[in-house]
Amino acid sequence: MQIAVVGGGITGLAAALRVRQRAPGAEVTLFEKTGRLGGKIHTERADGFVIEAGADSFLTRKPRGVGLCKELGVSGRLVARQAQHAGTFVRHGDALHPLPEGFTGMIPTRIDSLTGSALLSPGGRAALEDEESVPAPEDRREESIAEFVIRRFGREVYERIVEPLLSGIYGGNGERLSLDATFPQLRDLERRYGSVIRGLTASREQGVIDAAPPFVAFAGGMGELIEHLEARLREASIQTSVEVVALEPRTGGGFVLLLGDGAYTEADALILATPAPATARITRAFDRELSDLHAAIAYGSSVTVNLAFREHDLPRPVGGYGFVVPRVEGSDVVGVTVASNKWPGRATEGHALFRVYLRAHGGGDLTCETDDALIRAARRELNETYGVAAPPMLARATRWPESLPQYTLGHAGRVSRIRQRVAAHRGLFVAGAAYTGVGIPDCIASGEAAADEALAHFGVADREAPSATA
Ligand SMILES: Cc1cc2nc3c(=O)[nH]c(=O)nc-3n(C[C@H](O)[C@H](O)[C@H](O)COP(=O)(O)OP(=O)(O)OC[C@H]3O[C@@H](n4cnc5c(N)ncnc54)[C@H](O)[C@@H]3O)c2cc1C
Repeated sequence: MQIAVVGGGITGLAAALRVRQRAPGAEVTLFEKTGRLGGKIHTERADGFVIEAGADSFLTRKPRGVGLCKELGVSGRLVARQAQHAGTFVRHGDALHPLPEGFTGMIPTRIDSLTGSALLSPGGRAALEDEESVPAPEDRREESIAEFVIRRFGREVYERIVEPLLSGIYGGNGERLSLDATFPQLRDLERRYGSVIRGLTASREQGVIDAAPPFVAFAGGMGELIEHLEARLREASIQTSVEVVALEPRTGGGFVLLLGDGAYTEADALILATPAPATARITRAFDRELSDLHAAIAYGSSVTVNLAFREHDLPRPVGGYGFVVPRVEGSDVVGVTVASNKWPGRATEGHALFRVYLRAHGGGDLTCETDDALIRAARRELNETYGVAAPPMLARATRWPESLPQYTLGHAGRVSRIRQRVAAHRGLFVAGAAYTGVGIPDCIASGEAAADEALAHFGVADREAPSATA
């Protein structure tokens, strides 16, 4: 049984590992277009700094992040945010306001903490406090996140709190993102309790809301996860710098894969763990509708800029984990993480590391800008908020074109149609951030589910994945 996995990001690696764990006799080949595994997980270690170019942490609430780390025997390497620096802020004008406690993961866990926030005007607070009296609609029309939040909580809560947090997670526009495809649990609370606040209170009383810190990272950066996966996959064939450009069904089952250098290879089953634009290209000649459905999934681009300083070059100590910037502020900066405050071991003693997250405010594409322009924009933000004027001792700009899938209105319908088209091709499976979750635990779960489907296709009996030892 030959299984090919296309894409060496976390989704493809998790899929390949699952096949190896459940069917050690299977021949697994993973094709990765670039010279490096990890995709949007990319850690650089330089001059004592741990620099995250892409993802820097993951949610513990979704089981497959921590679950995979346990199976790899590396959960001891996970670190929580440094409690002594706790605090996230929202920039409003030139001032940083504390983000109300209980609202850090976009899904509020403590609405009561919002009522005292200086971020909201008296009118904004009144709208928030009225949420319990807003009736749930009778129809089940699909709503955008903005429509839902504004309808229930008022415009200020959306613009000043929810939208900037959303930008950090989805890099997208809440007016276009589908609530059902992104945060169905909010709609569910409204339906079951008639009010999100009432639903949250009930969930807290029933102990459903976990008060534990929601995010974890690797001590040496998220790249550690990729390194552990690569080590565990040494018996699979991992081919980097090999692009899959097209595929063709084989008579009698399986696929012929056309590679970037013109060569061909074959597989009995194929897991496409590529972002939707790449999947659209690979499937173009093979199934036009499947390709078009993937092409219809919009993607947002973003840029990260990491800047390191000597602490004595900062005009004053910087507190907290960082801040987010609401779109109404008109800035290209979406948020700033004080990485050396947030996570242990990110900078050597006496140094500070900042990560600035940028996305074109006017809807353009910052990934076309030069490093200098991007670094200048990031430094301007640090200067305006923290008064940092000194030149950084290290600066890195990383571009992420077409990197964040946008689950816009109609997304669930598109995904369901994709599933139907994929099922029409025996031995073909798709996985990744494009479908039902963009976070790392979602991608792991998606890759593993595709591997399970591929094994079921070969009649490999369903069983729990073995838990590996260190
Ligand atoms: C800047 C940024 C910050 C983020 N921060 C977080 C975070 O903190 N926490 C979190 O949970 N999530 C975060 N995310 C989201 C998360 O990192 C991604 O959704 C996830 O890593 C995607 O994994 P993937 O394997 O599905 O795709 P990718 O990581 O995109 O991997 C796909 C791989 O396929 C390869 N490929 C593409 N086409 C081909 C082809 N034709 N042939 C062969 N290979 C191909 C690509 O080169 C790539 O390596 C962030 C995303 C970005 C962009």
